[in-house]
Amino acid sequence: MSKPQLSFEFFPPKNEKQQETFERSRDRLAALGPEYMSVTFGAGGSTRTRTFEAVRNIAEHTGVPAAPHISCMSEDIDSIRDLLDDYRDNGIERLVVLRGDRPSGGGSGVFDYAVDLVRFIREHYGDRFHIEVACYPEHHPESKTPITDIEHFRAKVEAGADGAITQYFFSAESYFRFVDDARSAGVDVPIVPGIMPITNYSGLARFSRMCGAEIPLWIAKRIEAWEEAGDKASLRAFGEEVVTRLCRQLLDGGAPGIHFYTLNQSKAPLALCRNLGLGKAAAGERDIA
Ligand code: FAD
Repeated sequence: MSKPQLSFEFFPPKNEKQQETFERSRDRLAALGPEYMSVTFGAGGSTRTRTFEAVRNIAEHTGVPAAPHISCMSEDIDSIRDLLDDYRDNGIERLVVLRGDRPSGGGSGVFDYAVDLVRFIREHYGDRFHIEVACYPEHHPESKTPITDIEHFRAKVEAGADGAITQYFFSAESYFRFVDDARSAGVDVPIVPGIMPITNYSGLARFSRMCGAEIPLWIAKRIEAWEEAGDKASLRAFGEEVVTRLCRQLLDGGAPGIHFYTLNQSKAPLALCRNLGLGKAAAGERDIA
């Protein structure tokens, strides 16, 4: 069996304190030798410049390939083209291509769906970029049915996506079922599970409500109780155990790798990588704050 692919996702820092955290995590996680590190694109394209800077920062300081996320939420097609030109001219080879979250005040994008942006990139940039797209084992909140969701996923692959990263989930069964359905529909690209470490309750619950990911009650009730009691140690230890077991099940069942949503923190992803034996320095990492 080939070595599992490892990647980490960051968001672009917006102040000095966040920049320090980002850079510390960047270095600790880069030491594991991931395939790439990606940087999100703010809702409505709000972090366009900061995403670009964070990507350049990763590329300059780590030697790990950096992959910007890019979404349809831009003012116009020229700004998307300028951004893609900049990425191409700065040696970026991999993109995560999305429809994008809408900004909180509403708004729409240059394209209605990610498939249109994938098509645009292939039409104007050929095979210059390796393209990852998003997919949803527990279904995208706007999708009419799981079947139409798979059809829309397939359309992105037919338009030229090389691989996919899933929304996070806590049930291995939902991933395996989704991969089976995608394969039956003719989707043959790698589908890498996106994994969210469990480090708190309220943030995770809020985000899960927004993106439609389910936190099973047996997990939710425990971490909620520990958070209310201020018992961070128990919450983290439990989260680490649950997510390690989930990742092990996924990798044992044939998942091609793991993409960690780091939220710019390194402690939890490092511990998970160490438990799973993922990444070149994982075995040596201990007790990083
Ligand atoms: P699409 O593939 O366009 O799908 C959106 C919805 O439209 C789905 O319900 C789909 O079934 C439906 N659909 C697709 N095509 C059609 C069609 N032709 N007709 C009718 N319905 C259709 N958001 C950000 O803003 N910035 C980020 O950096 C970011 N990074 C992400 C990274 C990952 C790995 C994931 C999983 C999500 C990320 N998101 C990000 C969130 C993402 O933008 C949202 O989930 C968004 O709502 C959908 O994006 P998509 O690319 O999957 O859209």
